[in-house]
Amino acid sequence: MTANANDSLGQLIEQWIKPEIRNMTAYHVADAEGMIKLDAMENPYDWDEAIVESWIETLRSVHLNRYPDPGADQVKQQLRDVMRIPESQAIVLGNGSDELIQLLALAVSAPGKTLLTVEPGFAMYRQIAQVTELSFQSVALTADFELDMPELLAQIEQQQPALVFLAQPNNPTGNLFGEENLRQVIEAAPGLVVIDEAYTPFTDADYLPLLEEYNNVLVMRTLSKAGLAGLRLGLLVGNPRWIAELEKIRLPYNIGVLTQASAEFALKHYEVLRQQTALIRDERANLYKDLSAIAELKVWQSEANFILFRTQPGQARAVFDGLREKHILIRCLDGAHPLLKDCLRVTVGSAAENEAFLKELKAVL
Ligand SMILES: *Cc1c(COP(=O)(O)O)cnc(C)c1O
Repeated sequence: MTANANDSLGQLIEQWIKPEIRNMTAYHVADAEGMIKLDAMENPYDWDEAIVESWIETLRSVHLNRYPDPGADQVKQQLRDVMRIPESQAIVLGNGSDELIQLLALAVSAPGKTLLTVEPGFAMYRQIAQVTELSFQSVALTADFELDMPELLAQIEQQQPALVFLAQPNNPTGNLFGEENLRQVIEAAPGLVVIDEAYTPFTDADYLPLLEEYNNVLVMRTLSKAGLAGLRLGLLVGNPRWIAELEKIRLPYNIGVLTQASAEFALKHYEVLRQQTALIRDERANLYKDLSAIAELKVWQSEANFILFRTQPGQARAVFDGLREKHILIRCLDGAHPLLKDCLRVTVGSAAENEAFLKELKAVL
């Protein structure tokens, strides 16, 4: 292309792409080639060979020439069984729960409407609010990452948010905010409160029962953190009347035949994932104990499959880079939010991965 043509292309883009989008940066995913990957809350364990064989066998009967079951009813029924979702509640599926956040935002978006959450929190809420032209508002957590209830209730009163998102446990802090506080938020909120239970395999907390009590709550879950991040399957659970509205804007075939067949297979063998996540919970306790024993670090307890910790002042980036040089990829959160100063987040890996991480961490400190 000539320089001139390039210029006019720039002009075209400037003319037609909305400034909100031109000014955004695309979600950055670190290159993990050849790394021990402890940055993205993935389950480190593969399926054994026999299960892989049997999965591939089930894919033989999938018809790629046909559109998928638009409702994915079989998958939904299995999710109901595995997650004990009561018959009184309906389910809408998304291509990961990220798509469900987008669906919710699209459903309520109009000039002046607000999405409210807490920070540090899950970055996607802000990103999706920006794209859907919702006003994004957040309330800072306290220094120990609890809800600042007076401020949060004041902001709910002032902003009258269409949507409130609270992840339980919270990402990247790993903690729960407490049921009493959640109830106060739900009772104060004029619109929907979405409890994002992405880390449900790693905690005993379960807020599905709140759906029976309040008519402005939805619970969002995903199979990603349980061990199917590559599958991209999320679910939103709630009153059938809310879900019916969201079904109207869901693209009809958002869950493909390969995803449906693989999800059906994986949910049939959910016991395998349950054993793996139980192992990760044990490993989390070991990793927490070992990290806490390192005098230079402050470590936070976690109900999820990651642990947040703080280095000595100004050291986080150097520790992150030192680990990366040793082919260990974690997440540097220093700079992401004032409360995350000097903070790093490590995903709980296999025993061997955690051991390698600890060894190199001690070497770079
Ligand atoms: C990982 C994560 C999700 C996204 O999950 P996907 O289903 O993979 O899109 C949602 N919410 C929180 C808090 C997460 O950490």
